[in-house]
Amino acid sequence: MSSYAPLLAALVALLIGLTVGKAWERYKLRDGTWIDRRRARQSPHYILGLNFLVTNQIDLAIEELTKAASVDEEALEVHMILGNLYREKGQVGKAITIHQSLLQRSRLSRVEHAYVLLCLGLDYKRGGFVDRALDAFNEVLRLDPKNEYALVNLQKLHEEQHQWTEAYDTRQKLATLSAIDSRPQNEAILAFLENEIGLEATRRKDYPEAIRRFQSAIGLDARAIPAYLNLGDIRVTQGNEAEAALIWETMVDVAPDRAYLAFSRLEAQAARLGEPDRFASLCKRLITENPQDWRARLALSKQRHAAGNPLEALELLFAALLQNPHALTIHQAIWRALGQLGHPTALVDRYSELTQHAVFYLDPHVCIRCRYRSTELLWQCPHCHDWNTFVEERIAPAQDPQLEALST
Ligand SMILES: [Zn+2]
Repeated sequence: MSSYAPLLAALVALLIGLTVGKAWERYKLRDGTWIDRRRARQSPHYILGLNFLVTNQIDLAIEELTKAASVDEEALEVHMILGNLYREKGQVGKAITIHQSLLQRSRLSRVEHAYVLLCLGLDYKRGGFVDRALDAFNEVLRLDPKNEYALVNLQKLHEEQHQWTEAYDTRQKLATLSAIDSRPQNEAILAFLENEIGLEATRRKDYPEAIRRFQSAIGLDARAIPAYLNLGDIRVTQGNEAEAALIWETMVDVAPDRAYLAFSRLEAQAARLGEPDRFASLCKRLITENPQDWRARLALSKQRHAAGNPLEALELLFAALLQNPHALTIHQAIWRALGQLGHPTALVDRYSELTQHAVFYLDPHVCIRCRYRSTELLWQCPHCHDWNTFVEERIAPAQDPQLEALST
């Protein structure tokens, strides 16, 4: 299965790290005698096992690595990998037993101790033993404070528990360890976590704290869209419509490609303030700046329809359809508009022509990390739990086979 791939890559990286690492060197001399550390690695079963590992044949990998491990009972990394493979197969109990028994070994170096604990932490995490997993990862960090793998797992565990402050602190530690060029990405993730902390404060009705958190999120990442939306919502709750409008309009300026996420709020607000034209002119501005913005056309169409101008509304929908023939919402709006106009033949024919090559699908948002698909835009992937990894996928219209034959 494709979901194994990143994990196996991590396993291989772990293995290589241990094999070439300094930890390995310290192992050679024991009790005054040299131990041949190469025995397990020179066994054909070891290489075979690794080959099965990279081709995702877990059962065969286990079989070969078990044989390699029996050649050299001391070969720490082979036993460690075996435990990891059992975990990936779902045999968490077996994985825990293997890794716990490795921990009992005397003379583990600090680095080795940390690695085995890391594996054990992953076993606990997989088995749903959250507290024990937290303890294990924290212990890894006590032994090896710069262990990024432990920090990432700790962050994800805290996120799963909705312990946003702890997740934030963990991410911050990771950020100080990582390279300068990954700073924007770290700050974007910190901004999402700040936003979650702000949402918690909102639920407690602690609005000053919520406002501080949302503002801090925007300070960390100017494109922290959810923070703008939530900050504006609080201003509306506080009766400060002008401030809310300012926040959402700033968001539209900063991230016009995400402007549509504020549409329903801005539209409702314009209606509340009795200024429907304010929203309409925003849509017009977005269309001028980016003619491909089909969502602004759709929103403006709805507004024109409400203003009693169904023909103009329909023209906007046809224009939107050209930009995104797959959007079911546009088709539905067109069907409604055509119905209200009494299905005039000329317009129905135009619609038919426009849709000749359209392909329908319902889940155009896809996670660029794990390919998880979603109908809606999601800020955190429910599959790989990464932040801000969704892009909108478009299917190109099918080529006319006759035209294609002519052009080749
Ligand atoms: Zn994902």
